[in-house]
Amino acid sequence: MTFEEFGLSEEIVKAIREMGFEKPMPIQEKVIPMLLEKNVDITGLAQTGTGKTAAFGLPIIQQAEPGVKKTQVLILSPTRELCIQIAKDLNNYSKYVEGLNILAVYGGASIENQIRELKRGVQIVVATPGRLLDLIRRKAAKLSNVFRVVLDEADEMLNMGFLDDINEILSTIPEDRNTLLFSATMPKPIQAIANKYMTDPVEVIAGVRNAGAENVKHLLYTVHAKDKYLALKRLADFYPRIYGIVFCRTRRETQEIADKLIQDGYNADSLHGDLSQVQRDYVMQKFRIRNIRLLVATDVAARGLDVNDLTHVIHYSLPDDKEVYTHRSGRTGRMGKAGISIAITHLREKHAVQQIEKQAGIKFIKSTIPTGRQICEKQLFNLIDKMENVEMDNSDIDSYLPVIYKKLDWLSKEEVIKRFVSLEFNRFLEYYKDADVLGTPKEESRGRERQNRQRDNGKAENGYTRIFINLGKMDGLVPNALIEIINKNTNGPKIPVGRIDLMKKFSFFEVKSDHAGSLIKALNNDTWFRGSRVSVEIAQSKDVRERQKNSSHHNDGRKKRKRRF
Ligand code: AMP
Repeated sequence: MTFEEFGLSEEIVKAIREMGFEKPMPIQEKVIPMLLEKNVDITGLAQTGTGKTAAFGLPIIQQAEPGVKKTQVLILSPTRELCIQIAKDLNNYSKYVEGLNILAVYGGASIENQIRELKRGVQIVVATPGRLLDLIRRKAAKLSNVFRVVLDEADEMLNMGFLDDINEILSTIPEDRNTLLFSATMPKPIQAIANKYMTDPVEVIAGVRNAGAENVKHLLYTVHAKDKYLALKRLADFYPRIYGIVFCRTRRETQEIADKLIQDGYNADSLHGDLSQVQRDYVMQKFRIRNIRLLVATDVAARGLDVNDLTHVIHYSLPDDKEVYTHRSGRTGRMGKAGISIAITHLREKHAVQQIEKQAGIKFIKSTIPTGRQICEKQLFNLIDKMENVEMDNSDIDSYLPVIYKKLDWLSKEEVIKRFVSLEFNRFLEYYKDADVLGTPKEESRGRERQNRQRDNGKAENGYTRIFINLGKMDGLVPNALIEIINKNTNGPKIPVGRIDLMKKFSFFEVKSDHAGSLIKALNNDTWFRGSRVSVEIAQSKDVRERQKNSSHHNDGRKKRKRRF
């Protein structure tokens, strides 16, 4: 169906066409005809981004009477930002409707101005519950002529402790009113409101929950709790064009993580309830214009943010309320674009993860934190991509080029590229040069026995091969020295090195399997370390047992524990 076929007025259709609305979104298809036909109560399971504002807003604009200078429609919403956004949307839809006044009233702004505006006669009021109550008590807001109430983001209003205020407000509005309730989740207290204030509500589910899920990949990374921040950093590096929200549980955690990211040079900032409204506005604006690429936020604070076209949503902490997961990840994968929702968890959260899978109807893809090498490759590729796509129509540069060409005359094209990349990239490579593999706790502890068996036959997990080397701590071998031996004796890009286990007289280390053969060949070809000739081979299970037995006499009989570097 088209907007015209719904029976919407010419003025409204003209305005929304100008806004680029071509065809109705699923929730609009369901809600608009129902409301235009009769005053039916509706509960809508819908997140922001589903088009719900127009779904309830367009019929409201059509049905409010501009000639009556009294409040006819009340929309309650949890935050000031949402109020402003809804009022702005309604104003846009009603651009060509004469005489319709729409007002947003919310806390933190001058109440006198709001009272003055209300006195002028406002047909549609969009309000936060606290401020509205204040205005009712001061007799500035009068709701006796309200024919429709919309509770928008009802779950958030409850989370923010507005239940009593909502009850009090609804008790002042005529009972024969029509009530609409929209919520991204429908926990019990929301159902209780619906039961109490609504008559046979029709339940509408916004399609985006499923449609969105198709575009969103849900990745699960499990690391040691202490490695969570490192994992976050690696993921941020792995996605050079990331524009996302990092959700934390508490205000303190939010601030801590944001501080660390800022210190480590990321375009990050924090958004939480300990900040003043002015600070929050400032941060949100910077995020909107993408000056901030990673916004670390609590759920409640992020709710006020009208940014949904994120490339990534990162759950640094899983939400307590599992349904919040859907809400968070619904901010990515919008309008047909691909989105990635990343959960960084530790082992003890296994149960919570399973619950989320069940409740949100998703399946996590268990993933491994990218290695330093993978990250460097991704960053390099991004750099080269940016170079390929850089705008070149700046004639100012042209005038400098002859001198530059002359100066670089002695270098080949390959050398120029190498130098240019090194200039941009050396620091990055340096950081990740010796980076450890961030494995999952399962691989490292619980699965140790199984993994050792695999390792001892040379096959480590994650595509790494375990190699035996005839040098140990007694020969002066330390991890950096081992990496240096590997690098010095191989050409081309650095070989990714995984776990290193140093024993007294010999050691084991892992390398990416596709490099194992050539590395063994290279190191066995007359390589020396501090007077000893290097000998390497793929680790065999008997090597480990026998060699460990041999080395254990130096170990006063105690079992030796492998150390992870
Ligand atoms: P909402 O869920 O109301 O926050 O809407 C999400 C976004 O979708 C807003 O930017 C709307 O302007 C936009 N939108 C709503 N309905 C349509 C439509 N039928 N066609 C295109 N965009 C729409």
